[in-house]
Amino acid sequence: MQENRMTLDFNNTEKAFVYKKDHALKKAKLLFWIMGFTPIVKIATLITPFLIKSGFPIKKLIRYTLFEQFVGGESLEKTEVVCNQLEQYKVQVILDYGVEGGEYDNQQHDQAAGEFIKVIRYAATRRNIPFVSIKITGLVSFTLLERINKQGAAKSSYDLTYINDALKNLDFNDRDNWGKLMLRVDNICKIASDLGIGIMFDAEESWIQDPIDFVAHAMMNKYNIKKVVVYNTIQLYRSNRLAFMKDGVEHAEKEGYQLGVKLVRGAYLEKEVSRAAKVGYQNPIQESKEVTDLDYDAAVQTCLEKIETVSSIIASHNENSNLIAATYVMKHGIATNHPNLHFSQLYGMSDNLTFNLADAGFNVSKYLPFGPIEIVIPYLLRRAQENSSIAGQTGREFDLIKKECLRRVI
Ligand SMILES: Cc1cc2nc3c(=O)[nH]c(=O)nc-3n(C[C@H](O)[C@H](O)[C@H](O)COP(=O)(O)OP(=O)(O)OC[C@H]3O[C@@H](n4cnc5c(N)ncnc54)[C@H](O)[C@@H]3O)c2cc1C
Repeated sequence: MQENRMTLDFNNTEKAFVYKKDHALKKAKLLFWIMGFTPIVKIATLITPFLIKSGFPIKKLIRYTLFEQFVGGESLEKTEVVCNQLEQYKVQVILDYGVEGGEYDNQQHDQAAGEFIKVIRYAATRRNIPFVSIKITGLVSFTLLERINKQGAAKSSYDLTYINDALKNLDFNDRDNWGKLMLRVDNICKIASDLGIGIMFDAEESWIQDPIDFVAHAMMNKYNIKKVVVYNTIQLYRSNRLAFMKDGVEHAEKEGYQLGVKLVRGAYLEKEVSRAAKVGYQNPIQESKEVTDLDYDAAVQTCLEKIETVSSIIASHNENSNLIAATYVMKHGIATNHPNLHFSQLYGMSDNLTFNLADAGFNVSKYLPFGPIEIVIPYLLRRAQENSSIAGQTGREFDLIKKECLRRVI
């Protein structure tokens, strides 16, 4: 065990920041220092969307700070620089067209589907982009998902009849829009399957998640027969998701398809807690961070035990969870580059994990969003919250960057 720790040293900041020039590192240090001030992040989270909408000239500031740190560029073409840079260090990319969560119309959803397909085609031309991530809320209205989620509560979303039950009480328009969503998603997955690119469905708010799970499993049922093309995301900060994932393993075995899962803790903690209190239902979040961690590591363990039929993405910045997974692999003689195991961190975060894992021969990627500033704002604000003390993670990135600055004497 000790030997593994020595091979994989997450404290090696020299390797972690090898791709960052001195001035970029100093800029990142300043940014993470500012994000450490929770009141600043809270105020920014509240007012930024309004400032953008009202045309207040704030985009330049965002572009120079949060955007540069966490986003690959304003267009697909502009991500090339970052992709090339990562490729030099054997780091792969999960490309994410940052559209999510708005109340767009069908034409805009078709446009977004077209964008996703463009991204898939682009990924297929590159050696280091094995996956494209998709938010269902970029392809259908949030409120429709919410209505379906409410109606379908009685049935497991693995069940292919789930959706018939859920749509039964909705009007023609809703059923029609759902049909359009399924066509968009199926087209996306088919093209991805033909081109050998993996599709990851992001997990979103719990009150719209059942139909998202349904879509992901319906697509897995169709496309994950010979290999894993489609992945669903499991948020282990929800108290029932470990059981849900284990059911998914059983269901996939029974139905004869391979399961693809991206394991995350979850990005909407504040929103989940406050909505549950406001609307008056049981808080879906685990009783403590420790329980989230236990479930996360148990989910990792389940996936690794079933590595020949379950493909997993360990999508986390938690050093211990990454170490547990890597140690399991080394201890059980699993190839570090086994096609059913992949690690991933968000672009702009936890380079100490990404670059050291890549150096040790693991499949590892950066989740790289791109898109115009106004589209990626929700994503950027979540990153700011995550790196402030709101989610209890103050200072981790800052300390690593500070350490590397000291080492470089800059
Ligand atoms: C590649 C990638 C893809 C991602 N995709 C998604 C996605 O599709 N959907 C999504 O929601 N998120 C997604 N995330 C974001 C992810 O959820 C956050 O980055 C993650 O929660 C941060 O946790 P961590 O695993 O890095 O570890 P840590 O820093 O150890 O954990 C922090 C997390 O623990 C949880 N937590 C904190 N306090 C408590 C508490 N009191 N009780 C219970 N739980 C608590 C929260 O989820 C918090 O974010 C993705 C992340 C990555 C790296």
